[in-house]
Amino acid sequence: MRVFKFGGASVKDAEGVKNAARIIESHKGDQLVVIVSAMGKTTNALEELLTLHLTRSEAVFQKLEEIKSFHFEICNNLFENKKEAIFQELHNTFVEAEWQIEDEPIGTSGFEYDQLIGLGELLSTKILSAYLSSTLVKNSWIDARDVVRTDNTYQAAIVDWKETEQLIQQKFKTLNESVIITQGFIGSSSENFTTTLGREGSDFSAAIFASILNATEVVIWKDVEGMLNADPKHYESTVKLENISYKEAVELAYYGASVIHPKTIKPLENKEIPLYVKSFKNPAAEGSLINRDSSRDNEIPSYIHKENQILVSFSSRDFDFIDERKLSELFQLFSKIGLSFNILQNSAISFTVAFDYNESKINRLRKEVSENYKVVYNEGATLITIRHFTEQIIADLLKGRTVLLEQRTRSTARFVLS
Ligand code: ASP
Repeated sequence: MRVFKFGGASVKDAEGVKNAARIIESHKGDQLVVIVSAMGKTTNALEELLTLHLTRSEAVFQKLEEIKSFHFEICNNLFENKKEAIFQELHNTFVEAEWQIEDEPIGTSGFEYDQLIGLGELLSTKILSAYLSSTLVKNSWIDARDVVRTDNTYQAAIVDWKETEQLIQQKFKTLNESVIITQGFIGSSSENFTTTLGREGSDFSAAIFASILNATEVVIWKDVEGMLNADPKHYESTVKLENISYKEAVELAYYGASVIHPKTIKPLENKEIPLYVKSFKNPAAEGSLINRDSSRDNEIPSYIHKENQILVSFSSRDFDFIDERKLSELFQLFSKIGLSFNILQNSAISFTVAFDYNESKINRLRKEVSENYKVVYNEGATLITIRHFTEQIIADLLKGRTVLLEQRTRSTARFVLS
């Protein structure tokens, strides 16, 4: 059994859906579990819809109309027969969202988020499944919420592996088709509310299914030729990493390489399931392979940019050391606010940390620490990490730049630049 994951960019329009269907069809006969993200930028659009709902803005209905027409337009281009059941299916799926936005927001915003945002994956998988059926590729659509059980940490739900394993295994015993279509990113809590696994979480979903079903491989279909050593947005010439180890992939993902969701690797590594990253534009090409083999990890330097960072330096007002007790209070505060740090450094009386900039979270932090700490902020900073660097690379990188913070190990150099 193989697990394929199609991200939003691969199914951003009717052509994309047709292309994904062709890739699936070319593996007809194999056992295939296909995990699909929301189409194009739908998750962002749903996030905007949520904000409008939470602020009780009238524009919420207009936004929902836009999301609707985007999906119906794709279906119009895929299905000649406007009486196909998929049109009614989509309509029914949207009705649930309508109910939610018509009502007063209930519970926490995290709860509202998960009930609304998972809609994108339900829509995309219904469309792909219906299109495959119309081209005579038999498939079963399953609702990931019936089988991926999580706790109720909304927006970053933690998977209950034991329960999920049982549910997936039970479900798969009842399925006869060789192609199974399901959603990435979503699961459900034991109270049967939808939960989400965190942005870009569909890769992780693919790893969950692959690990439980003992897949022979996972393929993540992307709009790039594989794992590149840098983001083409920032670097003119990039190189594809042919083969890296799980460990290297985890490191790159941790530092912010956006190709694979960081949680994806561990379940695959545990079961030694190889992971391929391939281009949906050129499916026959080789792509990148991530497996046990670390022999080529050092071959090519990788560059990871994280922009829009805020560097925060705390120093205690009473000139006290920032000791374990103080650090532990600060870490608890970060965790309470939901701020994840990207790099940290401390000296005797100060402690410096970089976060992805998030205005409301940073304001909360400011409020909570102002009594005990003097705090200095640098906004608009960039964090650059270079794996397997050379001195020359660093010299070129830093030319004319102001370094706010610097850290090096044998294999990794990191700089926060203003
Ligand atoms: N659709 C979700 C997102 O955009 C999950 C995913 O695509 O992985 O974050």
